[in-house]
Amino acid sequence: MKTKLLSPGEVGKAADIIRSGGLVGIPTETVYGLGANGLDPTAVRSIFQAKGRPQDNPLILHIPDPSWLERYCEDIPEAVWLLAKRFWPGPLTMILKCKRHTPDKQSVSHTGPWVIPEVVTAGLDTVGMRCPAHDICRAIIEAAGVPIAAPSGNTSGRPSPTSVTDMLEDMDGKIDAVVDGGVCQVGVESTILDLTCTPPRLLRPGGISLEELRDMLGEVELDPAILRPMGEGEQPRAPGMKYRHYAPKAPVIVVKGSPARSAAYILEHLSPTYWDGVICFDEFAGWYPGHPVECLGGTLDQWEQARRLFHALRAMDEAGVKRIWAQSPDTAGMGLAVVNRLDKAAGFHIIEV
Ligand code: AMP
Ligand code: MG
Repeated sequence: MKTKLLSPGEVGKAADIIRSGGLVGIPTETVYGLGANGLDPTAVRSIFQAKGRPQDNPLILHIPDPSWLERYCEDIPEAVWLLAKRFWPGPLTMILKCKRHTPDKQSVSHTGPWVIPEVVTAGLDTVGMRCPAHDICRAIIEAAGVPIAAPSGNTSGRPSPTSVTDMLEDMDGKIDAVVDGGVCQVGVESTILDLTCTPPRLLRPGGISLEELRDMLGEVELDPAILRPMGEGEQPRAPGMKYRHYAPKAPVIVVKGSPARSAAYILEHLSPTYWDGVICFDEFAGWYPGHPVECLGGTLDQWEQARRLFHALRAMDEAGVKRIWAQSPDTAGMGLAVVNRLDKAAGFHIIEV
């Protein structure tokens, strides 16, 4: 298959491909997604195929505005509307109760039944809903007239793509088209908040921080799988959490502690003979001559760190390093999302200094 590269002006073409059951790489503010018509089970199945994604890992549905929630969800708590008002369009996915597939109650519009096929939710009775803050992305959804089911556009297990180049690296030849929407502004996937339980539970940290959510909702529980590996037989609330994620080819070692101490620890332990790479804060860029180095941004700039993290991991693969040492921020604000992705990329191989 030849993958077409579409310009931002070709939103209509992207929407046509989606409506006719094809796969399109779509830019969002978080990461590039691999989108298909969320109401078309065959199209959605081909997402899993292109990514090599396990069938039990559900997808997020992308909608252009909160009013679409009522088509696909039921028992929507009041807090959802407040969250939508404050954080949508934006990097927040809300897990809600999915409308049941009862043919007699089905509403049918010109775009098909307002029923989400089971393949989207991996058979769960809940569904993840998001309204993205990227003009091109919302324009594609609106032109298609259907919710777009989209996971991140990487091959399963790899770091998510944050540019059209990264997207093509994984998906060229496997999907119909990619729309070039520039570099993603957030750089890590959306915050996932489960609103089917009380108190609401954070399943994945992202561009909307835990602090912001607590500020608005009061109590918000932190899912344990965010900061530690899942134990034997433990069932994670977000099925995706049990898989190795965000991983470059080389093993990653995360070093935590004050930036100066973690930088020094890495320097002491870099092997002169082994092809070690380093992911570090800008302040330490010059510390590791002779080794491939990717900078994440300044020690205090967690937004920049999030923006650059996945590309840094991919760049390490390109340099062909045998092992990656990475500095880690603390978990305040956006730091929690960065820490979570780094820890997972490292398979929780963490050194505290
Ligand atoms: P991705 O877009 O590739 O980051 O994948 C979507 C993420 O959302 C995965 O980690 C899924 O496990 C999670 N997710 C999607 N739908 C649900 C749901 N209904 N309940 C819990 N987690 C979900
Ligand atoms: Mg993903």
